[in-house]
Amino acid sequence: MKITQIKVPFPIEYGRGRGTNAYLVEGELKILVDSGLDSEENRRFIRKTLEGEGAWDLDIILLTHGHLDHFSLGTYLQRETGATLMVHEADSEMLADYSSHFSRWFEEIYEHAVEGGFDPGILGEARLKLISAASILSRSASYETFTEMSLAGGAVSAIHLPGHTDGSVGVVVGDSVFCGDVAIEGSTAVRDLKDEFNSLEKLKVFNKVYPGHERSPLVRKDIEALESHFVSRLEEVLRVTKGGATLKEVVISLYEGINSDQASYRLILPINQAIAYLKYLEAEGFVEKKGGRWHSFRERISSPVA
Ligand SMILES: [Zn+2]
Ligand SMILES: [Zn+2]
Repeated sequence: MKITQIKVPFPIEYGRGRGTNAYLVEGELKILVDSGLDSEENRRFIRKTLEGEGAWDLDIILLTHGHLDHFSLGTYLQRETGATLMVHEADSEMLADYSSHFSRWFEEIYEHAVEGGFDPGILGEARLKLISAASILSRSASYETFTEMSLAGGAVSAIHLPGHTDGSVGVVVGDSVFCGDVAIEGSTAVRDLKDEFNSLEKLKVFNKVYPGHERSPLVRKDIEALESHFVSRLEEVLRVTKGGATLKEVVISLYEGINSDQASYRLILPINQAIAYLKYLEAEGFVEKKGGRWHSFRERISSPVA
């Protein structure tokens, strides 16, 4: 199997030059793992790149998960090339209607954030900005869903890796895996940290782990570094909540430089992440919420995977 990494830039309005890693996997089938954000510029870029590789006649666009920065350019490719767009069933509602998915996600955060001391006005501003961006970028696509899948006579398959999203998968090719945003060098956004720890464990058996952003490929020690990062974040949360703390206080202690003057939408991911840490610790019996404040009972995490 031939693997070609394609760095698809973020459109300029999203800034920060982070971009999405897509991967062209060629054997019996031509498979594109993930795509990137849709924009006129990116359409020209991906077309030119795939044509240059002799792979404009794609068979399949296989998504590691249902986030916009992985699927939205894929919906353009699906229409233009006729390739089959595939996503795990648990993330399929994101392709069906990203705006409603996004609104539901936001409402959950909003409730916790207001209770946790954030200014409803600033959060409302963030909601408007993010929801309008999500609705501009979401375009209906024809797609197929799977819970298990195997392609090219078993040469390509998927393992379920929930944690970043419920429907995140790793695309397995030999001793390599394409993991989307389950593992990114340094840190990654999590929805469910317990699932995430289990999924990281599963990634350790692979020789090469190809992530959806930043440096690629990663190896086992990068996965272990990510686990340690989460454990130290959890311990920081335990420390901050020792005498009781609001969600806002937890966010500020985890993310230096975060304050209420921050561009409102930049607060949302840190809030989301802090909520995931607190929920994990609550489920493990390490913290408890009383009257809108979080209180911890211990200082150390013995093992990330119970
Ligand atoms: Zn993602
Ligand atoms: Zn991503």
